[in-house]
Amino acid sequence: MWSTRSSWKYIQWLSYRSLSYGTTDYLTVHDNAVARYAKKEPKKHTINQLIQFGKQLNEQKLIQSARFVHQELPVRLAHRIIDLRSLPYYVVCGPIKRIYDVYVEAFESVRNFRKIQDLQDEKEFTVLLKHLVDESANVVELLAHGLRLALLRASQREHLDLDSFVDQMLISRIGRRMIAEQHVMLHESRPGFVGVINTHCSPQQCLDIAYQECSRICFRQYGVQVPVQIRGSVSTIPYIPYHLHYILLELLKNSMRAVVERHLSQNHHKNGLLLSKDNMPPIEVLLTEGPKQVTIRISDQGGGIALDILSSIFRYGFSTVNRLREEEQGGGNLGGEWDRLVQRQSVDGPMAGLGFGLPLSKLYAQYFGGNLQLVSMDGYGTDVYVHLDRTGDVLEGVEI
Ligand code: ADP
Ligand code: MG
Repeated sequence: MWSTRSSWKYIQWLSYRSLSYGTTDYLTVHDNAVARYAKKEPKKHTINQLIQFGKQLNEQKLIQSARFVHQELPVRLAHRIIDLRSLPYYVVCGPIKRIYDVYVEAFESVRNFRKIQDLQDEKEFTVLLKHLVDESANVVELLAHGLRLALLRASQREHLDLDSFVDQMLISRIGRRMIAEQHVMLHESRPGFVGVINTHCSPQQCLDIAYQECSRICFRQYGVQVPVQIRGSVSTIPYIPYHLHYILLELLKNSMRAVVERHLSQNHHKNGLLLSKDNMPPIEVLLTEGPKQVTIRISDQGGGIALDILSSIFRYGFSTVNRLREEEQGGGNLGGEWDRLVQRQSVDGPMAGLGFGLPLSKLYAQYFGGNLQLVSMDGYGTDVYVHLDRTGDVLEGVEI
């Protein structure tokens, strides 16, 4: 994947870590603990198992759930900490070092939390989990930023392919966030929900919500909206709504961007026609279901994807927004521009630019046994198929 770490890089890495964490004693204890936890396998669940467990909740079950998270989080974190340490030094400095610090801190604070014996312990542990979820909120942006800087630095040295590393980081993050939030949300009783799982999640409703949000972002970016036509209807599925929301929002943003930009480029001479919803070819969404899966197809007439970039669109950090910007800047320094973009993303979400929408949507779809496929009709438009398991019996997809 990446070239073998040379010894000078490793020494730099170690001294960097010592500077951050102080004494060697502390580092030895920490390293031993990471190695111990990393020997364990993660314990996976299906959506139905999580629902079954959380349905008739009592104090004993809450304590049991907290104990599970207490055991499980450090195992999953330890594997990622080891992964991060195996990266070359020039990759791990900067934003990725910040992720490393967040992970080490989370690992230590969960591991060192006392044995959970009663409801008071459970309560305090839940507060810690909430804090950790908040702390790691911007990991995706940091990863995107770090990846971009690493690729820039690498281009002078070696061929660097971090896609499977980023895959692992993000799959693991989806899983850790799910088990932490599942426990936190068991405390809140919301109709139709067991923790973060909606036992009757409606794809139609998720689509409506994602469409509203996407329209706002699109309007802010381009001053125009793109209509969406929905056909078909499907039954509800046991699912985590924010997973589906992420996927649908990212796909709708991609489609709306393609439709508007194509329209603008084709009609730039007809000023009167420019910015009207009526002139935009609608995005068509079809919902279907079979015995095991629900499928959502999103079809746009945004011109499709040029053949020369088709093989790159599922790569992390690949975006034609970046391309344009780099061309504008002659491929130079990305610092300030990129920071502003990342900031915008965390405040109100940009239309495009991180290059994480497609690959991360695919991971979310695959996490509980679904999939995501894209078919481009060059010069016309793009169809994206999202398949979701509707049985709830597929184990979460986290691997070591
Ligand atoms: P971003 O949207 O941040 O650029 P994505 O991962 O969502 O990143 O998409 C990567 C690239 O794939 C986009 O920059 C765009 O060039 C292309 N793309 C994705 N979806 C479509 C679509 N529906 N129509 C045309 N191009 C698309
Ligand atoms: Mg996108």
